[in-house]
Amino acid sequence: MLVVVGSQGGRSVAWNSRTQLPTFATFGPVLRVAAGLGLRINDWLYSDAEETALEACHANWQPAVRGLAGDARLVPSVDESLAAFNRHVLPMERAQKTRSKYLTHRLSVLTWAVWKGILPDLLPMSDDLLRAFLWDALAFEATLPVLKHAVNAILAWHERLRLPPPLAGKRAYQRLFHSLSRFQGRPRRLIFPIYAGAVRRLLGLRRPDHPPCGGVRGRCLICAEYLRAWRNCLAGAVATLTCSRCAETADLQVCDLWERFDEKAGYERFRGGAAVNVKVRKNDQFRQGHQPRLGVARNPDWDVIAHLRTLWRDAGLAVHPSCQKRLLPERRCPVCPPMFPRSARDGFGFVTHPPPSSSDLSRMIVDGLRQVGFDTSLFSGISARKGGLSTAIEAGVPEHILWMQSGHAQDVAARRYVHLGSPALLYNTWAAFGL
Ligand SMILES: [Zn+2]
Ligand SMILES: [Zn+2]
Repeated sequence: MLVVVGSQGGRSVAWNSRTQLPTFATFGPVLRVAAGLGLRINDWLYSDAEETALEACHANWQPAVRGLAGDARLVPSVDESLAAFNRHVLPMERAQKTRSKYLTHRLSVLTWAVWKGILPDLLPMSDDLLRAFLWDALAFEATLPVLKHAVNAILAWHERLRLPPPLAGKRAYQRLFHSLSRFQGRPRRLIFPIYAGAVRRLLGLRRPDHPPCGGVRGRCLICAEYLRAWRNCLAGAVATLTCSRCAETADLQVCDLWERFDEKAGYERFRGGAAVNVKVRKNDQFRQGHQPRLGVARNPDWDVIAHLRTLWRDAGLAVHPSCQKRLLPERRCPVCPPMFPRSARDGFGFVTHPPPSSSDLSRMIVDGLRQVGFDTSLFSGISARKGGLSTAIEAGVPEHILWMQSGHAQDVAARRYVHLGSPALLYNTWAAFGL
């Protein structure tokens, strides 16, 4: 691909190395070409990919807003208030990860427009121009999901700039993707779910027999390796039993296991059971959180709650005495360690800060499966959520109850008002694993 960016531009053009379509890494070359043509396109080149201050505050939003709002006695103008809203609130229409992907797609389209020499005519994009772009993207072997994301990014771009969008005709969007999926539709790489039998194997990991030692603190390598494998296995089991995404499990802290939860409310039947406090899930627009349940296993080998306690004891993790999680369940606790902390570099023990990332957690789950003997080429971090949801649905847990645990996408406002008379249905997902 040859792109003409003017005599000064060539040396400073940087490319995004991760995209299928040739894409500038920054707006710089586009700005230079626009300046050369006397175009004013600065409005097109916004970036909303960064985490907003309100997203970064982890629900401690009152001080965050106070910091942003400034002194109310100074009476900001309507324009100033609007600008602040647009800057701090509007981007959150979409999750930060989606915004970041869309920014890259906008850059791909701009790169294409520079290459084609049609930058002045790019926006608003006509249906014909969009089709031309898609054809060139196909020439770079862009897959259907990439094309779909690109089109969605283009539509969001028009919406943000208040321009008439392409594909506005009746069913134009559906028809376009029909034609694109006719020849591309092929099975995706199959990812296995972590089914009930696999959860039992994860929970059944045992310390290898070895001569008496000083444990992890005595720097016994066998014990240290075992403890990490144990953390991996329990991360996989908990993520599966709670139908969680990796990011949600990574976000859990030791104080998010609420032991004897229903027992305290008087449900004798669920004595010893625990709720897992999932602070916020991807589709939990109302930020209510979800509290999937873990019960007490008949077979002590599979008792996930007891196993978590031994993991934390051996790893030196505990709920801090000044923890306020039960009063402020939606906030990240500043004093307690993660439920599944990252490994320390020295080969012994764990680091509690920073918390594990979503990909750390995914790696833990896959490593755990390998450590109990699975061929992990067909498993990934998503296997946990897949396994939880499939096992529960197969066992007949009603979809509207499962939602309370899994937070899967369905925007039905009425669900906000569902309060069960008994947690029995919430325990059914756990019961489906027959532990
Ligand atoms: Zn040892
Ligand atoms: Zn805490």
